Amino acid sequence: MKEPARILIVGGGYVGMYTALRLQRKLRTDEAQVTVVGPDPYMTYQPFLPEAAAGSISPRHVVVPLRRTLPQCQILVGEATAVDHARRAATVKTLATDEEGGGAVELRYDELVLAPGSVSRTLPIPGLAEFGIGFKTVEEAIGLRNHVLEQLDIASSTRDPEVRDAALTFVFVGGGYAGVEALAELEDMARYAARYYHNIRPDDVRFILVEATGRILPEVGPEMGQYAVRELRGRNIDVRLDTRLDSCAGRIAVLSDGSRFPTRTVVWTAGVRPHPLLAATDLPRDDRGRLVCTAALQVAGAEHAWAAGDAAAVPDMSAGEPGKECAPNAQHAVRQARVLADNIISSLRGRPLRDYAHQHAGSVASLGLHKGVAYLYGRKLKGYPAWLMHRVYHLSRVPTFNRKARVLAEWSLAGLFKREIVSLGSLENPRAEFELAAGTGRRPEGT
Ligand SMILES: Cc1cc2nc3c(=O)[nH]c(=O)nc-3n(C[C@H](O)[C@H](O)[C@H](O)COP(=O)(O)OP(=O)(O)OC[C@H]3O[C@@H](n4cnc5c(N)ncnc54)[C@H](O)[C@@H]3O)c2cc1C
Repeated sequence: MKEPARILIVGGGYVGMYTALRLQRKLRTDEAQVTVVGPDPYMTYQPFLPEAAAGSISPRHVVVPLRRTLPQCQILVGEATAVDHARRAATVKTLATDEEGGGAVELRYDELVLAPGSVSRTLPIPGLAEFGIGFKTVEEAIGLRNHVLEQLDIASSTRDPEVRDAALTFVFVGGGYAGVEALAELEDMARYAARYYHNIRPDDVRFILVEATGRILPEVGPEMGQYAVRELRGRNIDVRLDTRLDSCAGRIAVLSDGSRFPTRTVVWTAGVRPHPLLAATDLPRDDRGRLVCTAALQVAGAEHAWAAGDAAAVPDMSAGEPGKECAPNAQHAVRQARVLADNIISSLRGRPLRDYAHQHAGSVASLGLHKGVAYLYGRKLKGYPAWLMHRVYHLSRVPTFNRKARVLAEWSLAGLFKREIVSLGSLENPRAEFELAAGTGRRPEGT
């Protein structure tokens, strides 16, 4: 009898989880054994990160547990550090260290799905590496929420007006949906929270959006992008188009228009670049570092290697423009994962492969509670209807019935009660109190 094919999926995000889900549903256990490798035992539903940062959804409900969702797959928590496709082998650094009996292991496979996604695209801007805050993971989203609320506490307790101004100034760089939604949700939350401080007025809080091009939210089209700028400016958010961050050294944000803002918060959401793991493989990459793929989601010229999502350069067959590639977004990642899984199954069963083609449906973006903008299937919406559409759309998309029910319950409860406004920043250092008691630590200073 033929041995089951060993399918190795690197990355447990959109592509990794949806591919594994479909393979688990459609393949018999005697046909294949699927292993998913990722640094976390969960998939993150990234479009919900801004709401998690604002406290509208709890962090646990933004993530999908891989072990429960993929019971027929093996889940290995660790980071792939290299892939030698010629030998059909991947090196994985597991969570357990060498001393703990773990360390690096080599996994052999017959079919490889490489989907480690992307990382923030940073630039060599002075101070950015030291002070910049990313917004791609649930840890970053919750860290940012705690940080913003902590700045209000610092501003409220300092006697130094310069410290106060810097604490109340929040700079966001990048006007894509990650940056705009994060800024809009956090601004909404910070202004709301300011009501509960005896010495901070909501207007004391200053949010600045810095965008290098002349528009924001290109995903919702120019008209809705302009509406979003007006909506944000109407809320006193300082939106600076055609402007770049030149430096944030010494915690002073210096912009290309000459302005300077002392600040303790620079959130960097100015685009993504493919995961650095791709450079540690023997697979072909394009000039931007993504894996070169065919429309059938095979890595070009490499048999039994497949890729999709942010890490892959996939021809956009629906664009009608030769050379155009799919944008890095969840809409493509989910649909590509389905085609990818079906093509692996076809390949194992000796059937022809099919090409991926998807007409972009548009986008929805939240601009804070009850505010939004949407361009979906040719329909333009703004304000409350767009916000509602944003929620309905993402509720329909978030994986598993369990997550949908939990998110819906949270939204319903949030409609009945007031917002949570405490910073739980100390969660990031849970031993601090005990160390103090044991006489080995000291209270951390404000960040
Ligand atoms: C804040 C935010 C909001 C967004 N909102 C939207 C939206 O509204 N609509 C939309 O279409 N798109 C949105 N996106 C983009 C969308 O989330 C991405 O395009 C999508 O996640 C890409 O899927 P992927 O599987 O390629 O990567 P990911 O979903 O990022 O998955 C990659 C996985 O690989 C894992 N990994 C990383 N390194 C390794 C390694 N060395 N070994 C093994 N595993 C590894 C990661 O931990 C991760 O789990 C948003 C993104 C962000 C950050």
